[in-house]
Amino acid sequence: MDHNVFNGDPRCTEIEEQLICANCGKKSSGYYEELDLPEGETYKGNSKVMSKHKSYRFKNSVTYRLSRGTYRAFKYGHFCRLRCTEAFANAAVEAGYRR
Ligand SMILES: [Zn+2]
Repeated sequence: MDHNVFNGDPRCTEIEEQLICANCGKKSSGYYEELDLPEGETYKGNSKVMSKHKSYRFKNSVTYRLSRGTYRAFKYGHFCRLRCTEAFANAAVEAGYRR
């Protein structure tokens, strides 16, 4: 299982398996991409079209929200937020863990 969690902005990392925060149990969110296509053109890729709406960025274009059924990595490795890393680390020390 290679998550590449610390490569660039980890929240932009697409991963196959959903992560579960080791502290609070929160699940990592789904990974979605947006694609703008000219009006009248249909999306022919293999990602699932979740929704589409008139583009805010380009004239006469449609924005497709796409999903490949993958997930977004956490920003803090195995934890969803910094507060969870802190709580987990302090609990580990209180339980007698030292590096
Ligand atoms: Zn958490």
